[in-house]
Amino acid sequence: MALHPIPPWVFPVDPYPGESISHFLGRFCRENHATLNQVGAKTGLGAVLGRWEKFRFNPPPTEAQVAALATLVRLEPRLISQMLPKETIQIRAIRLCAACYAEKSCHQMAWQHKFASRCSRHSLRLFLECPHYKAKFSIPSQWSKGACKRCLMPFETMQAVQKKA
Ligand SMILES: [Zn+2]
Ligand SMILES: [Zn+2]
Repeated sequence: MALHPIPPWVFPVDPYPGESISHFLGRFCRENHATLNQVGAKTGLGAVLGRWEKFRFNPPPTEAQVAALATLVRLEPRLISQMLPKETIQIRAIRLCAACYAEKSCHQMAWQHKFASRCSRHSLRLFLECPHYKAKFSIPSQWSKGACKRCLMPFETMQAVQKKA
């Protein structure tokens, strides 16, 4: 398989409001035809980005790491920081508010906060798995299709069976 080096120019990708770092990294890589390993090499961050992609933040991100990623993706460091968790998070299950996703195709960092079980905007319970076959959701960097990887049910259609909370 041919490798596509990151071109000297970078196609900038603006973060969506509330977007998680994993979802952003996936979009950035796809827009720039780059792998996360390549971005890791170019930023000197190496495997750190692979950990962030999986929401593994132990040890916590440093200012220098945030700055290195910000330089490559051509964003202000504060915009990178905004995509990092503000609280302790839970990563056993990737969570989803289908109603939010229908409005903006994006995984939100706040859904992974440890005690988040509902979407306060929609007063709906967050999904911890696909309601169809109970398959776990992929990590958000892989949400290019916006659908369950197993049954291909589009995330936005899961609203129909999302419970009030
Ligand atoms: Zn919502
Ligand atoms: Zn499914």
